[in-house]
Amino acid sequence: MEIYDLVIIGGGEAGLRAAEIASKFGVKIALIEKQNHETTAGLVGEKSLTLHKVAKTIYESRKLKSTGLKVPKNIIWNGVKEQLSTADIKTSELVRRLSKQIDFLYGEAKFVSTNVISIDKRREIKGRKIIIATGAHQTIPKIRGLSKITYFDTNSIFSIPKLPSKLAIIGGGVDGCELASTFSMLGVTVFLIEKQSNLLPDLDISVRKIVRKRLEEIGANVLLGSNVERVVRYPRSIELRVKTKSGKENCRINDIVFASGKDGNFSLDLSRGHVAFTKEGISTNSCFQTTNQNVYAIGDVTNWRKSAIFAYESALVAVHHALTGTRRKDIIPLSRTDFVRVDPGFVAFGEGESELKKRKAKYKILQSNSNLANSDLEAKDEERITLYVNRRRILGGILAGPGAIEASGILTYAYQNKIPFIKLTKAPFGRSSLGSNIKNIFINSYKTNTHRSDWIKKGFNSLKSKTSQIFS
Ligand SMILES: Cc1cc2nc3c(=O)[nH]c(=O)nc-3n(C[C@H](O)[C@H](O)[C@H](O)COP(=O)(O)OP(=O)(O)OC[C@H]3O[C@@H](n4cnc5c(N)ncnc54)[C@H](O)[C@@H]3O)c2cc1C
Repeated sequence: MEIYDLVIIGGGEAGLRAAEIASKFGVKIALIEKQNHETTAGLVGEKSLTLHKVAKTIYESRKLKSTGLKVPKNIIWNGVKEQLSTADIKTSELVRRLSKQIDFLYGEAKFVSTNVISIDKRREIKGRKIIIATGAHQTIPKIRGLSKITYFDTNSIFSIPKLPSKLAIIGGGVDGCELASTFSMLGVTVFLIEKQSNLLPDLDISVRKIVRKRLEEIGANVLLGSNVERVVRYPRSIELRVKTKSGKENCRINDIVFASGKDGNFSLDLSRGHVAFTKEGISTNSCFQTTNQNVYAIGDVTNWRKSAIFAYESALVAVHHALTGTRRKDIIPLSRTDFVRVDPGFVAFGEGESELKKRKAKYKILQSNSNLANSDLEAKDEERITLYVNRRRILGGILAGPGAIEASGILTYAYQNKIPFIKLTKAPFGRSSLGSNIKNIFINSYKTNTHRSDWIKKGFNSLKSKTSQIFS
């Protein structure tokens, strides 16, 4: 039986990142993936980013109305699909590059014992360390009539054969909002249906309002507190019978996509590997070790967060810990950077307020207010800046508005590298109003003295008294 220093199970966002990081250590690595990397498996985040960018360009050019030309939907979608294939090419190129150092083994992985994995029950390999990165799958709610129709989930929607005229998106979380924004910008009439009374129930209320307002501005129909009770198939359409807060509503659509929650992919005979899990995911410690200390779990399959950035950060920590024993606090603080790609963007980065409260951290909230806003900003009320800081450093925050995703990159870097926030007044935030308002917030906070360290204050006071002695 072949023995590897590291076996990675799953070649999606987290698994490929782990492979890329581990390839630098010169150890013997195998990556097991059950799908084909040329077509289906790979970087979902890359696909959704590409799709969103294309949709935004189409939307902007339609707004200009310069040509008066109406492009048929099938031509738009064919063009979009071509662009989407560039995301697949990126995955294939990464796999090709890594396969010079790593064995890519295709088939379904299952645990045979604590350190032995079978691939399609044909072959067995042994791993000194094993990383599980099998992701999560969409859960589909029970709805009458659903078995009679074809529907999509957040993965298969990228290969929908034809751009629909009307699309229902079930679930108003991060994925659902992002898809609603993308398809609305592509000219599709979108119905975003959420059971709870808010979109993005896990996020700050001010952010939820902005996202909803923006989705409605670009034409999406947002139905909150609404539940699809039945679907009825007609020859050229589907009818949704929806129970809303005020009664019942029927809507005719062409396609449905479910974005209503995910469950981890656990069908790996985890008990044979002595790896414990709950419905929420595989439980791990902060270095992503499972109940079997030689087995790690990263990305969507864990009970942490489900985001591409978390997939990367957990891969970084797990690989370093597995191969060198380095602990997480010496590698990177987890950034909690999640974002909803509606336009304007929304980002939550670093630690959230509840996390700070939980660990009893001392922090202060810095927020944008109207007199900080630039006068040339078109939509002042769409911009939100909330930053959590301690005396010198930024701990986390929430940004919403044009330029939010770009600005969060700088702030996340500062958070992870413990850079004092006063230094960020010189950071290249670009020309966005949001960027210059962040700088203003830092400058104002510094001016109020509350963040100067005592020795600076002491030095300043002694200098002041010396100067006054000289001039007196
Ligand atoms: C529409 C959409 C938009 C998104 N937008 C964003 C965004 O803007 N920002 C963001 O941060 N995140 C975003 N995400 C989330 C992000 O894509 C996921 O969090 C990320 O892909 C998780 O990576 P993963 O490796 O854990 O899982 P996956 O990428 O799902 O990879 C898991 C892999 O494991 C393989 N596998 C499963 N079981 C086995 C087995 N037994 N044997 C071998 N292989 C197996 C699967 O085939 C798959 O390739 C989005 C997701 C979607 C669907």
